[in-house]
Parts: sequence; structure tokens; C-alpha cells
Amino acid sequence: MKNKDYISSKSRFLTKATAIVLLIIIPFDFAKSNNILAIRIWPTQNYTRITFESNTELKYNQFSLNNPRRIILDLKEIKLNNILNQIATYIQNQDKYIKLIRIGQFDSKSVRIVFELKTKTNPHFFKIIPINKFNHRLVLNFYPYRNNNIENKKSLILSGKYKKNFLEKKIITNKKNTKIKPEKPIIIMIDPGHGGEDTGAIGKYKTLEKNIVLKIANHLNYLISKEPKMQSYMTRNNDIFIPLKTRIANAQKIQADLFISIHADAFINRSASGSSVFALSTKGATSNTARYLARIQNKSDLIGGINKSGDLYLDHTMIDLIQTATINDSLKFGNEVLKRISKINKLHKNKVDQAGFAVLRSPEIPSILVETAFISNLEEERKLNIKKFQQKIAESVLNGIKDYFFKGGKLRIKN
Ligand SMILES: [Zn+2]
Repeated sequence: MKNKDYISSKSRFLTKATAIVLLIIIPFDFAKSNNILAIRIWPTQNYTRITFESNTELKYNQFSLNNPRRIILDLKEIKLNNILNQIATYIQNQDKYIKLIRIGQFDSKSVRIVFELKTKTNPHFFKIIPINKFNHRLVLNFYPYRNNNIENKKSLILSGKYKKNFLEKKIITNKKNTKIKPEKPIIIMIDPGHGGEDTGAIGKYKTLEKNIVLKIANHLNYLISKEPKMQSYMTRNNDIFIPLKTRIANAQKIQADLFISIHADAFINRSASGSSVFALSTKGATSNTARYLARIQNKSDLIGGINKSGDLYLDHTMIDLIQTATINDSLKFGNEVLKRISKINKLHKNKVDQAGFAVLRSPEIPSILVETAFISNLEEERKLNIKKFQQKIAESVLNGIKDYFFKGGKLRIKN
């Protein structure tokens, strides 16, 4: 703990010579001073996320106190500025976790932010290094305290916590039984790509991939809700960032039979156009485009930022062993969807491409990634914004699902 006495007693020892040196150093220090550039808050049903963006890596301390329940964040070597001063105004009444925020210059070198909570939360703090348009970021995620309540599957608790043992146990028990009870509906996990700070691709007229794919996904979810033998869930149903592994983990949790990730393509060359469907490949990408896409889509976690503390865990070695069988099903499934989409949009490639997409890495769920159209292409950006086109994409995916099962597509092996 530093206090003013310490600082002033130290300053008494300064000689004239050091004072001159300080004068030279000060402008340099000032130029390098830490500054908060932006604060963004994403309140959702699942968790509230706060991002502090700064020109240098932030140093901080955090602790919690009770009565009232609160989280205290001390930002080190930082001065209050206009952006920080406004933080309290960002909190909305309907925020599920944060009641109010207080802020003040704690001492000459640190700013204290107090988050008063509405309920007991599970806070996660982590930093993200600069990437793309983002500078240094410090992320605070306020998760619900309990995360094992599967009562309400529609609002999956997306805390990113997933235990290795749980997955292993699940796979072992799944192996024992291959018959599915007829009354069980086909469960489909719809995965709208990106979300929150991760906007995905951006069109010339500022169309954001994350918004378009959510609309398509919502419509698909609606269409499936009218199907008597199908049931669907979404990895996100609002503008929120969900790590790729959490998306897979949640598909596992609901025992999904199919996993459909919905995206919109982008390429440097604006003439590139058409829809494509991808399946996972463990042996690497089947084409350069597929390799390129896998690389940019997998970057989602870097952009959105994940907590690399080790609480997200999927054993890749184990997954690879079981995966090959699923890949064949994914290809069959992808093919049916591609055929249906070819009736409403031109295809970028007329066969299912394969690439190592992180989001498709689910050991026993046939999974595909649909690149609906090129958001970077002017004509397709326009189309993607049309409600009718969004609905047609969703209908094509649903019909692809039906075709796949009609032709004997395998369901995920269940208990
Ligand atoms: Zn995408």
C-alpha cells in the first residue's frame, strides 16, 4: 500500500540535480501515460461483459466485499478521464448483474471502480492483447454464480465453464447405447457466428456479419419450433460474444444431433460471391479458400477474447479419434444443405469444402458451417439485408436437415 506520506518523505531527498532530470523525464512519461480509450458494456441474459480498452496494458487489482455485495477494481497508474467518468451512465436498469457503478481517483496513481451487484456473481477478469482494430483490453465478465442449472435450456448458461470429466463421461456412456427412443425429438444447435465485440465481416455499407447471421439463425429457430419432431437451441440469441469452445460445449450439453454454424463470407476481392458449406477436416483444409476461412473464423476467440485460465477444456486428441466417423455424416449433411441453397443463390463452390474450423470440432455431432453469401460483395451485401433472402436461407437449411434425415442421416448416438 502506498500513501501520501511515503511519497512526500521520499521527495524531500530530491536534490536539484534530480529535479532537473525529472523535468526532462516528465514529458516522456506523459507521452507514455496509460489512458482508457473506450469502455463498452454488453448486458445480456447470460452474463454482463465490460471491456476497458487502453493504449497500454492495464495493471489492476480486484477483490470483492459484502453488504452490499460488490466487486472492487483498482486500475493502476491511471488517471480519471472523461471516458472513465461516464462509466456509471452505461449501466442499464435491466442489467441482471450490476446495480450501479461508482468511480473515483483512489490515490495519485490509481482509479477505483466499485461495481455494486444485484446478485451473487462469478466474476472473471482477463486481458486481451491488441488485435485488428482493437488496442489493449481488460475484460470483466460477470457470470451467474451457479452455472449447472439445465432447467431452462433455452437460455443456456454460457459461462464458458466446461469440465473435461463431464465430456469424457458423456462419451463413454454414449458408446454403450446406439438406439434412440422414437419420442425423442431431433435436437439442433444453431450457431450464429460472432457477436458482441466480434463483429465478424463488415460490408462496404457497414452491414455487420454478426447481425445478419443472428437474423437468419432466429428465423431458422422459429421454423424448427414449428416442426413436431425437431427442437432447436441457439448458442447465442442476442448480441453477445461466446467463445467457440463454449458453443461446442453447449451443443454437447443439450445432446444436439446436428450443429449448424451460420456465417457470411468476406474476401479482399469484392467480386467473390456465392454460398458455401463447410465440414470439419482433421487432415487440414481441402482448398486454399477453406484454409483462409478457417484461419479468419478461428480468430473469433482472439477478437472476442477468451479467458485462457484453463477452465475451457476440450481434449483434442480424444476428439480426433472419434471424429472421422462424424466427418462423413457432416459431409452428407452439408451436401443436402448445399443442394437446397443452390436453388436460392449461386454457389461459390459446388461441393462441401473441408477445413479445420474450431467451431465444428465436436466429437459426435455432425457439424457444418454455412457461409450464406459474401458480405464483401456489394450485390450479396444488399441481398443479405433483405428479410426474404434471410428467410430463404433459413428454409434451405431446414430442408437440408430434412433431406439428410430422410436419406437415413445418422442421429447423434444417445443414451
Ligand atoms: Zn464469420
